[in-house]
Amino acid sequence: MVSISYKLTNDAGESIDSGDLDYLHGHHNIIPGLENELTGLKIGDSKVIKVTPADGYGEYDEGLVQLVPREAFPPGQKIEVGMHFQSRTEDGIMSFVVLETREDGIVLDGNHPLAGQNLTFDVYIKKIREASPEEISHGHAHGAHGHHH
Ligand code: ZN
Repeated sequence: MVSISYKLTNDAGESIDSGDLDYLHGHHNIIPGLENELTGLKIGDSKVIKVTPADGYGEYDEGLVQLVPREAFPPGQKIEVGMHFQSRTEDGIMSFVVLETREDGIVLDGNHPLAGQNLTFDVYIKKIREASPEEISHGHAHGAHGHHH
């Protein structure tokens, strides 16, 4: 069980996100490009890790941009550019963001917001401890910043 703090920036050097995260190493809780590079680090270590789309949130896929008829949304539903929706598909729960609202429907983008971007993580290892049997059986970390039941 690893506790990290991280700062995330994109290719342009813009800050995207920062925070603290507890994760269970080796259980694919985090993107592979990050998990692989964190292997072997110790408490107090810092590392700047560059992650390509292939090892991160995937390449941007134009095929995940689709025009959906307004009737697909509940009547009276307010729909604005930038809104997020979730829908149940044959691939599981998918998240979409509204790219455009048009006369003939709504353009939705199913790509992860970070798809297609080279990412730089500046990571600091705060804590490492043995995972509890319960955490291992659940496949995720429990605790302050982890998953709560
Ligand atoms: Zn759990």
